[in-house]
Amino acid sequence: MFRQLPPVPDHPAIEEEILTWWEERGIFQQLRDRNRGGPVWSFVDGPVTANKTLGVHTAWGRTLKDVFQRYKALCGFDQRYQNGFDCQGLWIEVGVERELGLNSKREIEAYGLAEFARKCREKVAWSAQELIRGSKRLGQWMDWGNDYYTFSDTNISYIWGFLKLAHERGWLYRGHRSTEWCPRCGTSISAHELVGSYEERIDPSLFVRFPLIDRPGQSLTIWTTTPWTLPANVAAAVHPDEEYGLKENGEWVAVKRYPDETYVERRRGAELVGWRYRGPFDHLPAAEGIEHRVIGWDEVTMDEGTGLVHIAPGCGTEDFELSRIHDLPIVMPVDEAGRFYDRFGWLHGISTSESAEQIVADLAERGRLVAAGEYAHRYPFCWRCNTPLIFRIADDWFISVDDVRPRLLAANATVDWTPAYFGKRMDDWLRNMGDWNISRRRYFGLPLPIYPCACGHVTVVGSRAELDELATAGMDQLVELHRPWIDAVEIRCPACGTEGVQRIPEIGDVWLDAGIVPFSTLGWQNPERVEGGYGTGAAEGLTGADLPDHNYWQTWFPAHWVSEMREQIRLWFYSQLFMSVCLVDRAPFRSVLGYEKMLDEHGRPMHGSWGNLIPAEEAFSRMGADVMRWQYCDQPPDRDLFFGYGPAHEIKRKLLTLWNSVGFLVRYSNIESFRPTLDDLAAGPAGVELRALDRWLVARTGKLVVDATAALEEQLTYRLIAAFESFVDDLSNWYIRRSRRRFYAYDAAAFRTLWFALVTGLRVISPVMPFIADHMWRNLVADACAGAPESVFLAGWPEVDEPDERLLDEIAEVRRIVELGREARSTAGVKLRQPLRRVYVRGARLAGTHAQEIAEELRVDEVGFDQGPVAQVRLLPNLRALGPRLGPKVRDVKAALDRGEAEELGDGRVRVAGEELAADEVIRGERVEIAGWGIAHDIALSVAIDTEIDPDLALRGRVYELIHTVNTMRKDAGLELTDRIVLTLPDGEDLLRHEDWIKAETLATRIEPGEALAIAKA
Ligand SMILES: [Zn+2]
Ligand SMILES: [Zn+2]
Repeated sequence: MFRQLPPVPDHPAIEEEILTWWEERGIFQQLRDRNRGGPVWSFVDGPVTANKTLGVHTAWGRTLKDVFQRYKALCGFDQRYQNGFDCQGLWIEVGVERELGLNSKREIEAYGLAEFARKCREKVAWSAQELIRGSKRLGQWMDWGNDYYTFSDTNISYIWGFLKLAHERGWLYRGHRSTEWCPRCGTSISAHELVGSYEERIDPSLFVRFPLIDRPGQSLTIWTTTPWTLPANVAAAVHPDEEYGLKENGEWVAVKRYPDETYVERRRGAELVGWRYRGPFDHLPAAEGIEHRVIGWDEVTMDEGTGLVHIAPGCGTEDFELSRIHDLPIVMPVDEAGRFYDRFGWLHGISTSESAEQIVADLAERGRLVAAGEYAHRYPFCWRCNTPLIFRIADDWFISVDDVRPRLLAANATVDWTPAYFGKRMDDWLRNMGDWNISRRRYFGLPLPIYPCACGHVTVVGSRAELDELATAGMDQLVELHRPWIDAVEIRCPACGTEGVQRIPEIGDVWLDAGIVPFSTLGWQNPERVEGGYGTGAAEGLTGADLPDHNYWQTWFPAHWVSEMREQIRLWFYSQLFMSVCLVDRAPFRSVLGYEKMLDEHGRPMHGSWGNLIPAEEAFSRMGADVMRWQYCDQPPDRDLFFGYGPAHEIKRKLLTLWNSVGFLVRYSNIESFRPTLDDLAAGPAGVELRALDRWLVARTGKLVVDATAALEEQLTYRLIAAFESFVDDLSNWYIRRSRRRFYAYDAAAFRTLWFALVTGLRVISPVMPFIADHMWRNLVADACAGAPESVFLAGWPEVDEPDERLLDEIAEVRRIVELGREARSTAGVKLRQPLRRVYVRGARLAGTHAQEIAEELRVDEVGFDQGPVAQVRLLPNLRALGPRLGPKVRDVKAALDRGEAEELGDGRVRVAGEELAADEVIRGERVEIAGWGIAHDIALSVAIDTEIDPDLALRGRVYELIHTVNTMRKDAGLELTDRIVLTLPDGEDLLRHEDWIKAETLATRIEPGEALAIAKA
């Protein structure tokens, strides 16, 4: 006996039950044991920042990771299952600062770096537990407890080794340059961290007068949107080849910008070069000794402003570059926190944003302001604390990339990217990126192991062991490789022997932490395996992860597969690739699955403050993990995911078809005492005579396995979902529908075929919906067949014979004809229950032998092929949708459509000229209408149904109505499927011409005349 199914599944309850059962039975451990020694499939987890609980965003990536690991495990691959946490750097610091109520670097220092480091570690430890809990609830199988933590001394030591190598090759240098700077975090921001950090912002728009010293009464008019940079002005730039004019009011501007003005004098920009002017804040001490003058610059744009550009080399990258060319003085107006230095008089201590209004007022008062307004533009914000960034000149440490660039490009060419354009993006990034700014002026992060000596020698310490050798002080208090402890360590300069050489105070970019993972976690160059050897420093006590040896690295490197969202192209994918190419000159991964953004179900970004953020806990209890996972997997990776309860509801509705099909098998199996045969799972029922429809379902199931395998091998989960949905539809709406009667009396072939198909379906979908799959496996297989594996995950991936494609095509065409026939009825407004006389089909290639089934399904007496009225449809490309996507390929698509060479894929989708077009990418030509006929068609097929209803058809229609009503009454009365009834029928004389038919369909033993329609148990 199978366990009966409730009418609808309670996903969260099923999931909790399965989680407990997995744990009790050690299913995951059994799976790992089973695959140990099998072929290797290496996945390296991109570390999740350990500063939060699990969110639905993170759950998306975790689901994909789990789906592919489960699939590969079902295929027998040995895997590592190591999860990773990103544990240091600004993300962690900012969260801890917030909790402690600290809001500047000064406050952190006053709080104490040791205590601050402890708080950061606590935060990580808390978050790691939360993330593990959430991920387990999601169904993710990982080697929890043996996770890697990027703040372990081992990880840090590996990065030191990398930095030492970069130094030895001459790539590591200290640069003095202008950089994007977060005034709140007090540190520079690297180019790859700016990706996606631009937001719309309104700034002041100022037109300011710079009076010319040698031309009394005349002035230059410049335009700026950053008032705080004006006190640092040293020059004004003009385009040498553009024309400038002196307006009647004495202001010089570019003629092209104000073509309608009257000019009293005109000059080429080159002639203005060298003119001296009075700066906007010459009275402040900071401007002392600065001679302001006009310079020429080819980049001056005539698209906005006045054509005269204010230059402040201390506040902008291009300005800084110009200062080198023109030997301009550099005025740095603000400190690390973005506040004016004391040399700026009344501005001292004011922040860049606070200063705007006061600077405008001051300029106006002094007669320097021409006009002030507002200006909306895209502006970069700090990706961690959302403060608007400024530019500062800073001394940062860089790794130069030019030497490595060609090798990076070559390595990227070996990587298989899905979607393919992510690989192109990586190429673009690699071609255009500047040197890697690796230093941050912060506290809890990778300490850069750089020890510059007064003699000029720079020591880069390559490992923790090397530090032991070189250290002259501070090792006794070094609890872990973090500030403040590391700052107290001093070394001896190997070049001159001087003792007491100190480390630079900077910490490293977090992407160094994550980029080293394919080396640090796999034991690269480590002579001997160290048990628990990864859990060092801050990671001690948090993980039991080993430090493997070099052989292990050789086995598991490079990864077969990594998967993260698109922004990681310039972050983790990049830093890994960079470090790997530097260390071993090859890509650290062979294939990548990337994916786009997650938005809410209406397409808006999710924000806590907008009330549309869905906490993972809430999603688990309201939709269930299986439904979430389905939603994630149903998403093509090249489009944004619209996640929410609406789509979840839709998925639950679809899943009911599967649930009801299993429910059907369970119900009749229990009535008819069906016992499944485990061996049937190998290739379908053997030793029993199968009917054509059974053979079709076996082939259809084989096709599902083939399609699902292909989808997973191509890393396209949405195709797996599509294949599964279409299979369930065929199984329920064709096989069960056409075979019902065979289940009312015991027909072994039908039971065995349906059981085989359903169980195989479960096996195929198990990576996506592990809970429901194991729940049903236990019911249909493990508890029903002696010797069956107890979990679907211990049963391996199904293997099938090559499915009979011709048979599949044949039934696919039959189903398509039936669908079109139903569509034709509904267009003509005739109910499905009403029998009709005839249907004509045109264009059928294979369905000729299935006239009987078509007639039954469409409730017609007669099916004719290639006769009757003709309907035509024309397809045209939707150029507006296709043009941007396909480019010149659109021509081929159009030509193929003109020739009628298109294949309908269902739901309006079409395959043509090798492209798959969505429903909204084709325009369907006018439909043909013919009186008395309902017509429907796709490209290949047309179906015309005779809609005339004569008295005989009308009577039969009423019989069908009656049968339907009575069966509904049976259900409402709670009768068993096998109960017989006595039927009371009013005014039914003509209906009684079909008495036997009515009795058979309603299980009536007798039909009696009476007042009203009624049933009674016989
Ligand atoms: Zn910041
Ligand atoms: Zn020295």
